[in-house]
Amino acid sequence: MKRRKTQTVAAGSVKIGSKHPIVIQSMVKFETTDVARCVKQINALAAAGAGLVRLAVPTAKDTAAFAKIVQKVRIPLVADIHFSADRAIEAIEAGAAKIRLNPGNIKDKNDVARIIDCAKAHKIAMRVGINEASIRNLLHDTPMRKRISLMISEMAGYIRIFENRGFNNLVLSVKSSDVLRTIESNIAIAEKFNYPLHLGLTHAGLAEDAIVPASVALGTLLHQGIGDTIRISIAGDPVQEVEIAKQILASLELYKTNQPQLIVCPTCGRCKWNLVSFAQQVKKLLDKVDKPIRVAVMGCVVNGPGEAADADIAVCAAAGKGFIYKKGEKMAAVAQSKLLTAIKKEIEKI
Ligand code: SF4
Repeated sequence: MKRRKTQTVAAGSVKIGSKHPIVIQSMVKFETTDVARCVKQINALAAAGAGLVRLAVPTAKDTAAFAKIVQKVRIPLVADIHFSADRAIEAIEAGAAKIRLNPGNIKDKNDVARIIDCAKAHKIAMRVGINEASIRNLLHDTPMRKRISLMISEMAGYIRIFENRGFNNLVLSVKSSDVLRTIESNIAIAEKFNYPLHLGLTHAGLAEDAIVPASVALGTLLHQGIGDTIRISIAGDPVQEVEIAKQILASLELYKTNQPQLIVCPTCGRCKWNLVSFAQQVKKLLDKVDKPIRVAVMGCVVNGPGEAADADIAVCAAAGKGFIYKKGEKMAAVAQSKLLTAIKKEIEKI
């Protein structure tokens, strides 16, 4: 898939832009002053595949804690700034690789200039984020085209402020909690500017409610080559945010993973077993596998073999037994009670 060309921006050791892999981001859910728990969560996020992790720094105590956390983790950190130029400067001096700022939240122009100069001196990256909710003159019923033109002119105005002070280590983001508006506004921003784009859907909800809208919004944009960093916002464990982001990217072949893939047919009246329970047991076997193999569990020998023809190993259920296929070729018929052990052996052979 061809990525839309964007310039490279460095956030510490992480490079963001179309020449580099898409960076998965997440955010720590604890108060930043709780250093030990933050460090533990950051390490868990890094182990799961996050490239950048953001922390909130609403008070001077938080930026002091941020400085300690920076020293204890290996992953570059992003400070999330709202309203306060002092917090931004403290976070940069504390070792933030990037800060996330909505310049509209900093009322005094001189404060914005101070932040830019400090970011420039420390050679850090800055994400200029605008949320739909913070756009001036935007009403509930403002039509889409008008909405997007307001967002673009607001973004253009912010970018001018940074460029006029000689700062262009920028990443852009435009966020909405609405899927269509997220897609349309990001397409418009991507067409207008060549700074890297961070994608996300704000306030997406609990995991079970967030996965579909986030996948549709971000998947649509990524398929069009738009997006250099992504975050899946869910109310819950942030490691899950990273896992979902990896799945979205992997489904578009934008992320290389050693995770095996389990294909299970949806079952119908032809299936003679409790296929779901069997598939769950196969999934447990695959949780221990660190190789990108494809395993299929199919409910019958009518459609199963054809639909699983490209699987490394497939099991097709029949009355009291299952047929094992390898790369589409029938290898053996095994009694249902011995099938899981037989599959385990075949997985081990691979
Ligand atoms: S593979 Fe067989 S059991 Fe499964 S959905 Fe298709 S026809 Fe039905």
